[in-house]
Parts: sequence; structure tokens; C-alpha cells
Amino acid sequence: MSLQDIRIVLVNTSHSGNIGSVARAMKTMGFSQLVLVDPACEVDSHASALAAGATDVLGKSKTVSTLQEAISDCALVIGTSARSRTLQWPMVDPRECADKLVTESTNGPVALVFGRENSGLTNEELQLCNYHVCIPANPEYSSLNLAMAVMTLCYETRMTFLDKQEQVEKPSACEDDDVKYPTAQQMDLFFEHLEKTLNDTGFIIKQHPGIVMTRLRRLFTRARPEDQELNILRGILTSIDRSIKSKD
Ligand code: SAH
Repeated sequence: MSLQDIRIVLVNTSHSGNIGSVARAMKTMGFSQLVLVDPACEVDSHASALAAGATDVLGKSKTVSTLQEAISDCALVIGTSARSRTLQWPMVDPRECADKLVTESTNGPVALVFGRENSGLTNEELQLCNYHVCIPANPEYSSLNLAMAVMTLCYETRMTFLDKQEQVEKPSACEDDDVKYPTAQQMDLFFEHLEKTLNDTGFIIKQHPGIVMTRLRRLFTRARPEDQELNILRGILTSIDRSIKSKD
């Protein structure tokens, strides 16, 4: 077990100092994988100054242009939000978030996604996540500085990690650990397939798709199909596709 497969993703950050402070928070808590999505600033000397002894985390950081790229190989993606949005998504608290990150990172990379300083994550970005986590701060003033939000969630994750490490020394079999979940990319392919089939059957009328796909995305995100279950769903869609074709 390690914290190395837990990726910290910052979307469209505008202050380089925040990127430096995030790197410092990460390193003090034992994290090292930083991904910057389309940063709105340079990783400059200000970032290095605030990173202090964590410039190696900055040096190793990856920059990509979209959130999809940052998370495509992740089977678990948790998005952060300081406020609740119009379309409620499956929520976890910081401790449940930590537990999921630590448990599921033993199977492959997982990601914790942070938003812009001024406007957070867009609804579209939040809908790419399996869960949302909100730090239950003062309801009258709940928006933390970006690096402090990273620090708080990394601290919780570290505490869970240390607890679990102790338990590993006296192991007890847990069936749940063997479950494999599809990656974000595999889920995206499923949603594309679902949309195409629903168009072909006429269930979705192209001109008026409404928010049916968003609601279906939320339904399947909440259900969180396992690898094998997703294969069954894809098989069902393929059988519908075939049956439509044979009637043509
Ligand atoms: N004004 C923005 C807040 C941006 S704060 C908004 O209303 O969404 C910058 C980032 O810090 C957020 O996108 C989120 O990643 C993180 N953050 C700040 N406060 C948080 C909280 N209470 N819980 C979870 N994440 C938080």
C-alpha cells in the first residue's frame, strides 16, 4: 500500500503560488503525483518559493490540456466542491473519500480533483467524477484556499493510510478489495455507446436530448458498475444494436 497512486489534479489554476503551496502540502503528507490541467499561470519562481523543499513534486508534475486526459486511466475520480450544485451527485465526506482513495489505489491510479480559485469546477467537470467531496466548513464561509483544501484532504487520506498500514500487519480478508472498477475512459466509452443506441432506438430524440444523458450518467455513476457488470451492459447494448440492424 502506498500514496503514490493517488493523483492530485488541479484544474485551470490561476495563481502560481497556490501550485507551489499544493506541492508542499502534498509532499508533507507523502503524496507526489501532481497533474495540472490547463494551468492559467506559469510554474514560476513564486511557485518554487512556496513549494520550499517540495520543488521535486513541481518538477515531476505533468501538464495536460483537459480533465479527461488527466483521469482517463483512473477507476476512481473524486471531485471537490465547496458548495452543493443543482444536480446532486453521489457525495462522500472527507473520511469516506480518504478510505476510498486508499483502498482503491491498491488496484491502480485514482484521482482527487480540485477546481479554479475563483469558480471551482464546472458542472461538466464535476460530472466526470464518481463522487463529490465537500469539506464541511463554516456554512457561512465555506470556501477554503486551494492549497488548504488540498492539505485538509491529503491529511485525512494520510491518517486513513497510516491506520490501514497498521491493519495490514494483522490482516483480515476483505472481499471488497478484489472488486475491479472500470476506468474513466471505459465509462466514457460506455456512455457514448449508450447514447448512440438510445438515439438508434429513438428513445433520445436528437433535437431534444434534454438532460436524459446527464441523468443516466448520474444513475450509472451512482450504481458504479464493476468491470464485469459494465461488460454485461455493453453486451446488452450490442445485442440491441444487432437487433435494430437485423430489422433494417
Ligand atoms: N468559489 C469557488 C470556490 C473555489 S475554492 C466555488 O464556489 O466553487 C478553490 C478550490 O478549493 C475548489 O474548487 C475546491 O477544489 C477546493 N475547496 C475549497 N473549499 C472547499 C471545501 N469546503 N470543500 C471541498 N473543496 C474545497
